[in-house]
Amino acid sequence: MTTSTVRIVSLFPELLGTYGDGGNAAVLARRLQWRDIAHDHVTVDATDAIPTTGDIYLVGGGEDGPQTEASRRLLADGGLHRAVERGAVVFAVCAGMQILGHRFPDGAGRDQPGLGLLDCVTIRVDRPRAVGELLTTDATIALDGGTMPLGSLTGFENHAGRTVPGEGVRPLGAVAVGEGNGDGSEGIVAGRVIGTYLHGPALARNPALADALLSFVVGDDLAPLDDTEVDALRADRIRAARAHELAPRRSWRDRLRRT
Ligand code: GLN
Repeated sequence: MTTSTVRIVSLFPELLGTYGDGGNAAVLARRLQWRDIAHDHVTVDATDAIPTTGDIYLVGGGEDGPQTEASRRLLADGGLHRAVERGAVVFAVCAGMQILGHRFPDGAGRDQPGLGLLDCVTIRVDRPRAVGELLTTDATIALDGGTMPLGSLTGFENHAGRTVPGEGVRPLGAVAVGEGNGDGSEGIVAGRVIGTYLHGPALARNPALADALLSFVVGDDLAPLDDTEVDALRADRIRAARAHELAPRRSWRDRLRRT
């Protein structure tokens, strides 16, 4: 286990912070603090140079316009690519995941280049925006020392784009409720670069996923924490997601079937 300070970097929260994903940094910081592991948290504005020495980079969701702007700046800066080459962890949500792929549509439906850090493309489809609870079946993630169980991943989604993973790409999970990538899979994992459609914030709703990100950096012998309260909240949200599936989603599907 490393004893050095874990550096958490939040990228462009003024462009990619619409859905509360900034909370992911707070969750990582708190779980490190509870374990007495030194950390710092840097917030990078879109006009700042991106530091390349971070351990975990967080990219949030956002509206179409700011998403395009963020992608341009990330491409021009190049710092996130250099950090990934160094072995940094990236956790990117919704617009963030779309930006990390090869391309995504802007507000006018025109393709915009992404960073190519994830092998996927995001497209606009002739389907309603995916809005609502998002739940996966039991998920796992591959760490350096083995596989870590994550349980069901829960959150909410709100996106127009659908993401098509490349051949052989590993998803984060399989959709139980909601839309996710749009093909029954949810999220993408490429080594230490992880994308997801889960808002929530995702790491507050899924502490095992937060610990998986931390394990990439500090090793997988993390001291256990008392997650009793969050487990109760998770059970509540998982129930709500399943109940949600029985109500509005059914009419949504019926509507789709009729068109
Ligand atoms: N603008 C993107 C879409 O609608 C991403 C939305 C988001 O980040 N929640 O698909």
